[in-house]
Amino acid sequence: MSNDSTLNQVSVLIVGAGPAGLSAAITLKKADPNVEVVVVDKAAGPGNHNLSGAVLEPGALHKLLDSAVPDWQESDQAKKVLVSKVEKDEVLFLPGKNLSFNIISMIKMAAKMKLGFGQMVHHGDYICSIAQLTSWLSDIAKGMGVEVVHGFAVEDIHYDAATGKATGVKLIDQGLDKHGEKQCNYVAGETIEADIIVIAEGCDGLLAEKFIDKAGLKRQAKQLYSVGVKEMIRVSDEQYAKFGDGHVVHAMGYPIWTPVIGPGMFGGGIMYAMGENRIAVGMIVGLDWHPCDFNPQDALTQFKGHAFVKQFIEGGEVIEAGAKMIPEGGFYAIPRDPATNAVGKSNVLLLGDSAGFVNMCKIKGLHNAIESGIAAGNAICQTLNNTSGTAEQYTTLLTEAGVFAEMETAKNFRQTVAKFGPLQGMPLSVLGKWLPQFDIESDWQELTTARYRLKPSVKFDKDTFTAVAATEHREEEPCHLIIQDETICVEKCLSKFGAPCITFCPAGVYEKIQDQPKAANPSNCLHCKTCQRKCPFDNIRWTVPEGAGGPRYKTM
Ligand code: SF4
Ligand code: SF4
Repeated sequence: MSNDSTLNQVSVLIVGAGPAGLSAAITLKKADPNVEVVVVDKAAGPGNHNLSGAVLEPGALHKLLDSAVPDWQESDQAKKVLVSKVEKDEVLFLPGKNLSFNIISMIKMAAKMKLGFGQMVHHGDYICSIAQLTSWLSDIAKGMGVEVVHGFAVEDIHYDAATGKATGVKLIDQGLDKHGEKQCNYVAGETIEADIIVIAEGCDGLLAEKFIDKAGLKRQAKQLYSVGVKEMIRVSDEQYAKFGDGHVVHAMGYPIWTPVIGPGMFGGGIMYAMGENRIAVGMIVGLDWHPCDFNPQDALTQFKGHAFVKQFIEGGEVIEAGAKMIPEGGFYAIPRDPATNAVGKSNVLLLGDSAGFVNMCKIKGLHNAIESGIAAGNAICQTLNNTSGTAEQYTTLLTEAGVFAEMETAKNFRQTVAKFGPLQGMPLSVLGKWLPQFDIESDWQELTTARYRLKPSVKFDKDTFTAVAATEHREEEPCHLIIQDETICVEKCLSKFGAPCITFCPAGVYEKIQDQPKAANPSNCLHCKTCQRKCPFDNIRWTVPEGAGGPRYKTM
């Protein structure tokens, strides 16, 4: 397959070379080496668009690799990717800038009592970089005969409502100028026809949302999102030795909510030991935040300035950075076919973050992404001769793998916090399955004129952040960030909220040009999609840029 061809036909097409999509490809090849599997991905190279904490529960990875790759744990790549096992697991409550309390014993007690919070125990899990994990899985898949191609951006799915099946996907046109005119290097986006289409493009993917809409899939509740901003910091020998390998910290409270100051945002900070004197430091904040001048990077700055964090990273060098959304809505927000309850429809399957398989009580979704890939690979193998039933078989295997059962244990956690805020919602969520399903708003509806009370005195340096994310797009291509109605920006948003997209976009894409908010720097975009879900007038659409654009994460 190449950019020059006009039509391609493949048996199984997987959109998205992340852990879910690659796990599906590996499982398929393991079950049937002759099946034709093609994985397309919009990133320039393996793992380039993958960012996570990450702490990985090992069970799913063993299930995927134990019978496919003999002695995989002994390979140099595995040792490099799976940095270490969690040996020191801390959950901190930060009531203020200088105070911290380790509440892991409370979490362990909750685990014994089988309360939702108890799932937040990470001892024995792997600390890893999802970008490196993805790159490694890509090598394994290629070694088994899977064709993994990068730089292919998919913009639409051909779905036939009459048959209820999809016939293929359409790649984006390449070589248009800023005004949409064809340049000399113009190549029309080809259609790739496929018998089975697996959508595994990550959180809030363009293709997934188009498919959900076209095929009439429904969610029981609106999807909720958070955004994570993360830095990889190289620290001194002394600081790293003090922090220690195998050490993970999850912190809640300061600087996004405290009993005294509010302001009541859901989320928290993370610190993971990444080996080679590197500590990953991040801040994850639910997009249902209220203050209109809030930027998650400001919260990251304050977190880094907290006495507990500062001792380990002060003077360190930020060597990589990035941002990504997480689907947090959980069990209620899984899109399903109303007729069959399948997570997909006939020959189209939704995997990993595209389906929203994140367990917010664990703060993890990577294991479920891999499980969904395994279920998809097996379901496809079992239904190659009758692809109308693939999505249902996939859903049956997901059930057998325990994915839904796990998601159900956390189904009321994030919803309750969204409804009542972290101070009331988190204690209330202990009631777990006895709670009703609450009616919640979309994240963008939650923005108010409130102000973030802990703004750092120094403006966050988004230019450096974007530079170390190594993001780039062709400068001449059409802007992929569409402000649908620019009059809303001026007439409604500026005076009331002060154009929050300018503040919260982690890459400084939005600017005011002659008093008109514009997506002025689209080439800086990190593909986090925050703007699409947090513009208070739901006025931004993220469309896919040309293939190979975006960040080039290596160790995120
Ligand atoms: Fe406001 Fe959205 Fe316009 Fe930005 S794009 S100024 S957030 S309405
Ligand atoms: Fe994220 Fe939107 Fe900014 Fe791109 S423009 S980095 S998708 S908030």
